[in-house]
Amino acid sequence: MTGMLDLVSTTAGPRLLLVEDDPALSSMLAEILGGEGYAVSVARDGQAGLHLGLVQEWDVLVIDRGLPAVEGVALVGRLRGRGVTAPALLLTARGTVADKVEGLDAGAQDYLVKPFDVEELLARLRALLRPMASSRAELPVGGRFLVVGEGRVTGGGDDVQLSRRESLLLETFAASPKRVFPREELLARAFDNADTLGAVDTYVYYLRRKLGKTVIDTVHGIGYRLGSG
Ligand code: CA
Repeated sequence: MTGMLDLVSTTAGPRLLLVEDDPALSSMLAEILGGEGYAVSVARDGQAGLHLGLVQEWDVLVIDRGLPAVEGVALVGRLRGRGVTAPALLLTARGTVADKVEGLDAGAQDYLVKPFDVEELLARLRALLRPMASSRAELPVGGRFLVVGEGRVTGGGDDVQLSRRESLLLETFAASPKRVFPREELLARAFDNADTLGAVDTYVYYLRRKLGKTVIDTVHGIGYRLGSG
């Protein structure tokens, strides 16, 4: 079987499936994304991408349009048809409006035209991994809620306004309240390229200072999770 996967990264970050048949581009992207904290798996054709997309869970999909075996737009459509909901970004050599509409209609969330700037790809992936805006998430501190997308904590006393970074970090925890997040994953999800793991600890400290110590639990040797109350 062609298009076998290589496991290029074993970090505990967001699970990213890259389906790209160009060997130079897929190796380069896998290396960069791995360096950014993503747990990257690569499929080299649409059939392998379909298989992997269905048998494993993913946080985000990056799919080339022009693929052997199953073409990229068809691949997104087939994954959606089988209940795969992870956000998908299509890569393409063409950039016409009709092309974009076709990709978005098939169920992709975003679209990037080759050649693209890697920084732009990284920014778009961060956006795709962000929780949906305008919902409220309960916090484990005295009946308080985070207003997602506004960075505002309300209920149980005066409102507290969070900085953009504090808000992104707390939204990440609140979106999966039981999950323990490795620091590497938090770095990839809520911070910029220039930040280091120490920044994650610093912002957890800021959140606890603003909202109370119980808002985030430390899980020693692994990372952090939303407080268990
Ligand atoms: Ca291609």
